[in-house]
Amino acid sequence: MPRPIYATLDLSALAHNHKRVRARVDGAKIWSVVKANAYGHGLQRVAETLASLTDGFALVEFDGAAGLRAAGIKQPIMMLEGCYDNSDLQRCAELKLTPVVHSMAQVRALVASKLANPIDVAVKLNTGMNRLGFDPSELASALRLLKRNASVAGITLMTHFADADGESGIASQLTCFRKTTQGLDLPVSMANSAAILRFPESHGDWVRPGIMLYGSSPFPGATAESFGLKPVMSLHSKLIATRNLKPGDTVGYGCTFTAAKSMRIGVVACGYADGYPRHAPTGTPIVVNGVRTRTLGRVSMDKICVDLEPVPRAEAGAPVLLWGTDGKMVLSADEVAAAAGTISYELFCALAKRVPIEEIGG
Ligand SMILES: *Cc1c(COP(=O)(O)O)cnc(C)c1O
Repeated sequence: MPRPIYATLDLSALAHNHKRVRARVDGAKIWSVVKANAYGHGLQRVAETLASLTDGFALVEFDGAAGLRAAGIKQPIMMLEGCYDNSDLQRCAELKLTPVVHSMAQVRALVASKLANPIDVAVKLNTGMNRLGFDPSELASALRLLKRNASVAGITLMTHFADADGESGIASQLTCFRKTTQGLDLPVSMANSAAILRFPESHGDWVRPGIMLYGSSPFPGATAESFGLKPVMSLHSKLIATRNLKPGDTVGYGCTFTAAKSMRIGVVACGYADGYPRHAPTGTPIVVNGVRTRTLGRVSMDKICVDLEPVPRAEAGAPVLLWGTDGKMVLSADEVAAAAGTISYELFCALAKRVPIEEIGG
């Protein structure tokens, strides 16, 4: 029998979450963000599910973009980091991709490229994230060069928020963006999931949701459920053994958990080599037989131990939900991620190749 671990991907939940975005953005168009293999959910299946719903796709991998075109995706495809070299510019022309242009070097390469077909571009303004993008003082000269060049068709203006999910919010970046782009009659794109949910004034012409499509909350304090989002990825396994501990017995590598009293524990076939976070400490929530309990001790490569006190009748073979939903219970990836000191984005992207995937609700 195969090892009992598997992930389910609920494609009807993905379509549902896209509808939740649509319902919030008051007519703005939607670039569905599918970088990193659609946040670990599988680029092709996600694109296929969203093809009839969304207005565009956004990612950073050129091979992924070529795969989308080969699969018949007709919508605009934005390359969020732009072109890495000149051959990428040619691919943009061949595949009708919309690269982000974020530096003068990229402007010069594009202007010199003499592309067979002019391409749409998204000109990125740095308003405070300080990773990619033109500083406000550079924008006018970049636009001047792009606007009169035959390789350039449409221009969209974009920026990215550093703390849409946090305390500082977007106010200073939004002010900077508005001030710098005032009077330029071009479509704009600013909002990631957090800004979509929290700052309607940032929606503009195109929004760029990622994590909310996959059913997670971009905020530490608010659940995905409270926004009407449904988990797409669920990670399931089973108990493969149970054991009784005496007071003083320890569990797992490093002996980080010590039983204070007699207790019964279970061993789950899931470890960090499956993508479960190794930093999840004792007490991380986990569901056994439909009942919430907690992990015990360190996560190993292939196994993790759980407390069976709330589920005294659980035996080897009992179903285990690591995150997502079993159809009745929801254990959000956000909650597991928070216990492990990370975010659900990282859990999803880390789902290992050795975990078989079952599509449901397609
Ligand atoms: C990843 C990304 C997004 C999506 O962010 P979420 O927080 O997942 O919604 C939007 N815009 C850019 C530029 C990105 O890199």
